[in-house]
Amino acid sequence: MIIQDATPEQVRSALRALSEIQEIDLELAEIEEERGGLPEQVQLLTERIAEYEAFIVAKDKEREVSEKVAGESGHKLAVAREKLTKYQEQLYSVTTTREYDAITTEQETAKREINDFEALISTNTNRAIELAQMLEDKQAELEQLRKDKVSREEELERKLRDTEGLEKELLVRRGQAAKVLNPRLLAHYERIRDAKDGRGIATLVGEACGGCFALIPPQTQVIIKQSRDIYACEACGRFIAPDSVIN
Ligand SMILES: [Zn+2]
Repeated sequence: MIIQDATPEQVRSALRALSEIQEIDLELAEIEEERGGLPEQVQLLTERIAEYEAFIVAKDKEREVSEKVAGESGHKLAVAREKLTKYQEQLYSVTTTREYDAITTEQETAKREINDFEALISTNTNRAIELAQMLEDKQAELEQLRKDKVSREEELERKLRDTEGLEKELLVRRGQAAKVLNPRLLAHYERIRDAKDGRGIATLVGEACGGCFALIPPQTQVIIKQSRDIYACEACGRFIAPDSVIN
């Protein structure tokens, strides 16, 4: 019992409206299918492009830091080398052992610094080169993603243009059919449609629900055939209309 105190004409008109909405929904689903997941693909590409861009910015910053460290270490290396030369010259003019020891200690420190700066220069230069190479590859991949996105968008626009008119027309017709319908019935239909393969209404086929082929009790079959009430299949939930109403 879905509608109370409905006349057979009201029952038939509601079932006819539901059936028309079902036909329209199947056509709308077909249009959706034709668009072939393009909107999702475009969305996915947009997200990947954003990820690439963020990655490239971060790695480029890292490359800049490495270059900066290499450059600064170059200056410090030059200073350390100058100091070493200066100490070597000073060695010629020392007069005491203490002076000699002090200068050789300074020399050792300068040599250690030279080694450290050379290592820093080498590590950071290599890292900067490595990053630059990687960035070049990523930039090329990013360009490809951008091209893919443009072509998917164009394809989508073309398909949208092709189907837009029909879709609008179907939606207008759907709106008109829905007007005569109790909103509760429409909500039930839509819930079942979404849960059951896009179909929320079926016909009575012999003694069974045409949607799931569950048997319908004889007294219910009579109610359906005489349009005394709108009946939803107890097994699948689809509304069941007699053949005579839909065809
Ligand atoms: Zn069923």
